[in-house]
Amino acid sequence: MKPLQELIRPNIRNLKPYSSARDEYKGAAASVFLDANENPYNPPNNRYPDPLQQELKARLAEVKNVSSEQIFLGNGSDEAIDILFRTFCEPGRDNVVAIDPTYGMYQVCADVNDIEYRKVPLDEAFQFSAGKIRAAADQRTKLVFLCSPNNPTGNELRRNEVEKLIQTFDGLVVFDEAYRDFSAAPTLLKRLNDYPNLVVLQTFSKAWGSAAIRLGAAFAAPEIIAVINKVKYPYNVSLPTQKAAMDMLSNRHKVEQWVKTLVEEREILMANFAQLPVTEKVFPSDANFFLARVTNAVEIYNYLVEQGIIIRNRHTLARCENCLRVTVGTQAENNRLIQALKNYKK
Ligand SMILES: *Cc1c(COP(=O)(O)O)cnc(C)c1O
Repeated sequence: MKPLQELIRPNIRNLKPYSSARDEYKGAAASVFLDANENPYNPPNNRYPDPLQQELKARLAEVKNVSSEQIFLGNGSDEAIDILFRTFCEPGRDNVVAIDPTYGMYQVCADVNDIEYRKVPLDEAFQFSAGKIRAAADQRTKLVFLCSPNNPTGNELRRNEVEKLIQTFDGLVVFDEAYRDFSAAPTLLKRLNDYPNLVVLQTFSKAWGSAAIRLGAAFAAPEIIAVINKVKYPYNVSLPTQKAAMDMLSNRHKVEQWVKTLVEEREILMANFAQLPVTEKVFPSDANFFLARVTNAVEIYNYLVEQGIIIRNRHTLARCENCLRVTVGTQAENNRLIQALKNYKK
């Protein structure tokens, strides 16, 4: 890995971050707050939230077996993705490399930040090779994006290839684990202390059932977290969100039960989907969705919309010709989908 200071954009390296009222105050016993121009009425929402979300990070650190200094929390993992661009990639000069197809936000954030986005196609098994990623990279490649289980393909990337890339690439490797909970493979968080260039993304939006609260996490070496904390908005995670996340962390058995149910339902839904006359192939899944090739993705997608059932048409993506992406719902929802497709007449 290059020295971190060399990877950081020069303006960010030299940035003096905004110092909020609550940053400056460090005393323990204060009870009169006349420092932040807040309204004294309407608790608790009258007060600015903790800019570094320390209570929530302490709890999450315990659950994830990392240290608080290894955690960035943001407005969804989407904020984490964007802040990595803004921290490391110089607009109009630097570039990033990503597997293709994958999660669309990497490219959107690259485009917004005017960063060249280099795609490396996955093979027929939706796997990648570390060598091909490195071949697409150059001295100005700051980030590589890997998503595993990958969206929209649903599969886990081969872990030895992932680690080979982390060990041999001299920029940062962003490893998106949005669907980790649904997979049998372990989290790469275990290797955080071994890899100074690894950034792991996780989210409360999927297994944790909390897409509405907008909370995502980036886990990385404390030096990386410290620099992205400089770039983030001071109060980027609201108090209601911090509270809702604390509640979810106290309800982990519920999350485990949802995951168990959804993985069981996934297997049933995929087996039923494979039997449909319209289905040509159901791709293996380690997530709470699966990709399937059908006879005509556009027509079937439109037919389902007419039936009030919305899935995702992925037909236009690389290697996804005539593919639909189906999220696993409740048993009743899954049955409605299957029934509708049984009734489909071309
Ligand atoms: C859904 C998803 C996310 C989650 O984004 P949030 O902003 O946290 O809701 C992140 N990465 C991938 C690959 C996803 O599919």
